[in-house]
Amino acid sequence: MIARKKGMIWMKAKIIDGKAVAARVKNEVKNEAERLRQNGIVPGLAVVLVGDDPASAIYVEGKKKACAQCCIRSFEYVLDKSVNREVLLELVGKLNNDPKVSGILIQSPLPEQIDESEIIAAISPEKDVDAFHARNVGKIMIGKFDFLPCTPSGIMELIADSGIKVEGAGCVVVGRSNIVGKPMAMLLLHKHGTVTICHSRTKDLASLCREADILVAAAGKPKIITADMVKPGAAVIDVGIHRLAAADSNGKKICGDVDFDAVSEVAGYITPVPGGVGPMTIAMLMKNTVTAAKLQSVNH
Ligand code: NAD
Repeated sequence: MIARKKGMIWMKAKIIDGKAVAARVKNEVKNEAERLRQNGIVPGLAVVLVGDDPASAIYVEGKKKACAQCCIRSFEYVLDKSVNREVLLELVGKLNNDPKVSGILIQSPLPEQIDESEIIAAISPEKDVDAFHARNVGKIMIGKFDFLPCTPSGIMELIADSGIKVEGAGCVVVGRSNIVGKPMAMLLLHKHGTVTICHSRTKDLASLCREADILVAAAGKPKIITADMVKPGAAVIDVGIHRLAAADSNGKKICGDVDFDAVSEVAGYITPVPGGVGPMTIAMLMKNTVTAAKLQSVNH
């Protein structure tokens, strides 16, 4: 890892601009989607929103906007929060069989009466653009995959774009969820990082984090990663998103899992929140949708 040191003074961390990298990825996706359209293949993404969670509605709007930017058709299905499993499964079955739909995204969280894993299992693996289906998860484990989950693959894109070397690097992932922590660890491992996964029962999180050349914070706990937990020069990737009840002393209403101001004095690279990992998640969803359209055009 390159320590960003100038003379005797530590420089502030280089801020990794997720918006810029996401714009580049979306532009590449748009070019590919236009090329497919010339061959009669129109990529389409179906987004299913259940209930009236305001944050979920904002995410769905962002996905629809990105589809429009990337020349991808979007189809939105809004279901009442009282919906039962039969209705949702029937919709998934309909979307699985709809040739206009290349990818299916079920916006989480789902209401408590719905077993999310049953719904994910019902999505056709070749339309599973979130890469949450067990078949796609298994393919990722063995390194022979069609899709990668959007947030971890977006992080890998940010790491590559910043010229950060993963091979041989000490990588610490804080969080072991199925959608972020576990696949993140696997992708870093595929790139030959030496990976440690920390979680809520890890003993001495701080000393493990201090060993990291690449530290990915995905614990869902505001500012859990403090400056004393970061190795000087490390790359710190912040996955967390937390809306604060009131603006902090810098006037910010959103923070991540990393204490950004203090950590940017120590780290070599850091992602901001917002504007870091978040835009990449959507860009990679677009990429997966175009990949799905291509796969289906070959397989059918
Ligand atoms: P999750 O709640 O499913 O998992 C959190 C993980 O952190 C768990 O594995 C838990 O063991 C671990 N953890 C909790 N407290 C800990 C502690 N004190 N020390 C160490 N580990 C601890 O969350 P998730 O779905 O993986 O999401 C994590 C965060 O990332 C959330 O803030 C979420 O909003 C955000 N997120 C952002 C994006 C994005 O696009 N930017 C995408 C997905 C999730």
